[in-house]
Amino acid sequence: MEGYIHSFESFGTVDGPGIRFVVFMQGCPMRCKYCHNPDTWTFGAGKKYSAEEVAKNALRYKNYFTGGGGITVSGGEPMAQAAFVGELFALIKRAGVSTALDTSGIMFDIKDAHRFDGLLAVTDLVLLDIKHIDDGEHRKLTGHSNENILAFARYLSDIGKDMWMRHVLVPGITDNDEYLHRLAGFIGTLRTVRKVEVLPYHTMGVNKYKSLGIDYALKDTQPPTKERVLNARAILGVKK
Ligand code: SF4
Repeated sequence: MEGYIHSFESFGTVDGPGIRFVVFMQGCPMRCKYCHNPDTWTFGAGKKYSAEEVAKNALRYKNYFTGGGGITVSGGEPMAQAAFVGELFALIKRAGVSTALDTSGIMFDIKDAHRFDGLLAVTDLVLLDIKHIDDGEHRKLTGHSNENILAFARYLSDIGKDMWMRHVLVPGITDNDEYLHRLAGFIGTLRTVRKVEVLPYHTMGVNKYKSLGIDYALKDTQPPTKERVLNARAILGVKK
């Protein structure tokens, strides 16, 4: 099977444990205002690769996957090409290497909860990025409800799948104590969250918007202060 891929990173250190080979899939249905990869949005763009080609490419780095490292598939939205990612992960796991899925969870549908069971069976860790705990704010930020995303987190907990929870801290949008406490409360109800990460908003993707001719909605938003990052980490119970 072939998948549409945006790019690869050979020695990723921020998308899961240890040193990782990261595959960025092409295509995402979300439109997060702070997305720093708007060039991954369009479906059917990027380059086509077979799962075998990607596995072969990634496994060349196997000896470098120290510290619990392995392969992460990110995006774009990897669950939009679930069959391809499932095939890739099966090949990777057959080689004894760990797999992580970096997703927004937007493709999950509680009415068809088992649709991704094949993919999850070959996924060791899910990096789940909850964009906003408040549904109305989530819609404003991403264009979509968070209902299925929260349901996905609950489903992962119910089936015993390990996850890391990630949250981008954006002044004026998510950097709000009430919302952070609500998010902490939700995370506290899940049984398999192994780590929580606060990702401070940054403006590194802004130039991509310029070159793509897309208006950047957060022009006036600055990264959060160190104090606010520490505050969010404390509320969300982030451990060192
Ligand atoms: S889900 Fe990720 S890739 Fe998609 S728009 Fe949001 S930040 Fe960008």
